[in-house]
Formats: sequence, C-alpha cells, structure tokens
Amino acid sequence: MVLDTILEKIDSNQNRYIEELLGFLKIPSVSTYSHLAADVRRAAEWVCSHAKRVGLQARLIETKGHPVVHAWRCRQPDQPTLLIYGHYDVQPPEPKEEWHSPPFSPVIRDGYIYARGASDDKGQFFTYLKAIEAILAGAGELPINVKLLVEGEEEIGSPNLGPVLAANADLFKADAIAISDGSQFARGVPAITYGLRGLSYLQIDVRGPRIDLHSGAFGGLVKNPVQALCEILAQLRNPDGTVAIPGFYDQVLELQAWERNELAALPFAEQELTQYLGIADLSGEPDFAPLERKTARPTLDINGIWGGFAGEGAKTVIPAKAGAKVSMRLVPNQRPEQINQLFIDHVRRLAPEGVKVEVRELHGADPVLVRRDQPEVQAAVRAIATGFGTAPVFIREGGSIPIVNLLQETLQLQAILMMGWGNPDDGTHSPNERFRLQDFHHGIRSVAALLYELAKPGA
Ligand SMILES: [Zn+2]
Repeated sequence: MVLDTILEKIDSNQNRYIEELLGFLKIPSVSTYSHLAADVRRAAEWVCSHAKRVGLQARLIETKGHPVVHAWRCRQPDQPTLLIYGHYDVQPPEPKEEWHSPPFSPVIRDGYIYARGASDDKGQFFTYLKAIEAILAGAGELPINVKLLVEGEEEIGSPNLGPVLAANADLFKADAIAISDGSQFARGVPAITYGLRGLSYLQIDVRGPRIDLHSGAFGGLVKNPVQALCEILAQLRNPDGTVAIPGFYDQVLELQAWERNELAALPFAEQELTQYLGIADLSGEPDFAPLERKTARPTLDINGIWGGFAGEGAKTVIPAKAGAKVSMRLVPNQRPEQINQLFIDHVRRLAPEGVKVEVRELHGADPVLVRRDQPEVQAAVRAIATGFGTAPVFIREGGSIPIVNLLQETLQLQAILMMGWGNPDDGTHSPNERFRLQDFHHGIRSVAALLYELAKPGA
C-alpha cells in the first residue's frame, strides 16, 4: 500500500527532518517583542519558502501586525479539503538564566529537542510540512486538498487573524481543520481533544463613602465596601463547591454515561497531583470525579480581590472602595452572554444597601464540543493509531483556545481535529521548553496517515 511506502520514507528521513526543524527553531520569532519584528518576519518567510520547497503554493498575507502564511495545494476537486492551522511565533524565553542551553540555540539531549518553540508550536506544526513532503515525494500527489494557515500572533492573542479570516473566508474554506498545538494526555497516551471550556470574566466594583474614613470616627455609621464585597463573594458558591448563581447549571449538557466511563478509565494520579500542588486534598463539586470537574464541569473562581489597607502595621480605616475579579469556566451549552447576565442579576440581588455595586464584563469565550461521530474525527483516530502505534483517547481541555472559537465562527467548521503531539511536561511557555523526538516522528507519521484516511474512497 502506498501509505506504507510513505511511512517508511518518513522513518528513514528522521535525521534530516530534525536538522531542518533545528534551523527553524534558531529564529527568535517572539511576537510580543517589537525589537524582534524582523526575526518574526524571517520566520514567516522561512515557513513560506519551506512550504514551496515541499510542493505547496505559498504567500504571505500582510496584516497590521505580523504576516499570516497562506499555503495550499488543491488538485483533487472530488476530495475534501483539510485546513491546517499552526503558528510560527513563540513566547518570550525569559527568564533566560533558567535555561540549561540558550533558547534559540536548539540542542538535542536525552531524546528531546530543547528550544523555545520546540513544542509550541514550531515542532508540532512542522510535522504537517514534512508529511506533505513525504507524500508528494512518494506518491506524486496528495490524496486530498490542503490549505495552511500559519499565523505569527498566536502568543499575543491573534489580534489580526479575525480580519484576515473575514476578508478571505473563501480562501480558507475547508471541510475539516487540523490543529496540533497542544499535548497528548500523558506520555505514550496520544489524545484527541473534543471539548474546550468557555469563559466568562467579570469585575465587581463596590463603592462606599467618597473617601477612606477613620473607623473610630465613622465606624457604625457607614456600610464598609470590603465587608459588602465579602458578603457578595461568599454567596457566589455554596459550601459544597457548587455555584450558587440561580440558573447557572440550566444549560449544562450533562456528561453521558459512556463519557464518564471513558474519563474514569484515563490514568489519573490524585496523590501525585496534590503533592505537586502542595495541598492536602482536592476540592470541588461532590458528585463528580476530579477529571470531570477539571474539564467537563463549569466552575467559578475569584481571581483577585482588593480594597482597604494591606500594608505593614495597622491603619484603622473604612475603605472607600473594594473590588474583585471573578472568572467562570463554562461548558457546553452555556453561553458567556447568558451566564454574564445571570451573574450580574445575582450580584445585584446580593448587593447590600449603603454601597454602590457595579459589574463589568471583561472577557468571554464560548465552550466547544466536537461531535466524535463525524467521519473526520474517526479518520483522525485511525491516523493516530497508525502514527503512534496506539489508538488515541478522547479528552476535554479545561481551558479555552480562542483561536478555535474564531475559526469555528468565521469558517463555520464542525470537524475540528485537535491533536496535540506534545507532552504535558514539554514546558511550553516555560524555561527549557522541549519536544520529544519520538513525538515529532509519530506526529509526521500521523499526519501522513490522516491525509489518506480523510480521502474519499473511489473518488
Ligand atoms: Zn501554541
């Protein structure tokens, strides 16, 4: 079978692939540093010319910030189109003194490539270029159509990607999207992420007297804003860990029995985790297992709180104001607008007399749930089994990935294949970021298999 020949080719070219990746990793494409803007562009050009070298057409799309690389090869009118998303920008390397080798001088140690961007996302994204190259070299043509969208602003929140997608929706039209910018469930346990939590982020401001007051002269006369804030915050959650906002759980799509069984079968070392966190026990909703609470149940957390005197010694004061930031992680089918309104109504009801309470919405993201019975998702399962030699598990992610919402909304795509080739301990965004050579290799094999698995037979 043709795929076998291609996989052999991939196996025998590993050293060259690694050498090429090392070259890519040498470019310090830190998108947030304006003094490195020329290097960021150099990384975009590197991707563009490498895409051409492997047999794609490619160009840069300019934005107000760093350019987007658009590459494509669409020569199979009867076959589906896969959009491949990646990013060539990286996080700042600081603190540099904690790196065992310089962040932009990649080295190989103990089966890992160490460099900023090795796992997030240069190394993972590069697997697609190498798989495409191997197929074109071995079979002459790709079994499906591919489009690549590689941005340079992921690490700064993709501020210019929305306009690019909106203006070029037709260019990026596809039947499925592949994103490898995350991790497997654990080492040796590849995973497909089919759920992401959403987010509601709000700020509460409580104002009392015009100025800070002497608590001796005015204590007993005015409502203390810090006290008022505490009364409100204390009633956002029930003592058992559930969220106390009326209606909060109304839209929650309950976990199915099979889903709970699958989650329960994943390796989860509770004691290791509590030890790592330095806490005696985990806490949360009583009726759900830790992995369910971490990824598939909604939560509410107070992220910060301020007001009054917190300096050294004593200052007898009734503060004029107090405030807090509160975030809620949402699950399907909760919507941030709806949850924000419930939150605001609840806080208004709780607001005691004598203070002015304001709530502001800061930030939101919809949760994502990818239907697993879609043929594209099943194709990804088989492809990963081929590439890694073991079938993937299905996981949900506790956080949100704004780019997924953006792609889903602007391109109206349902088949979102989130296949992280990295490992949870790759140290992305941290010093000594690394990418396991074996994961790099298995990733390339999986991508090659995926392109064949997505092809319609006989078309
Ligand atoms: Zn990333």
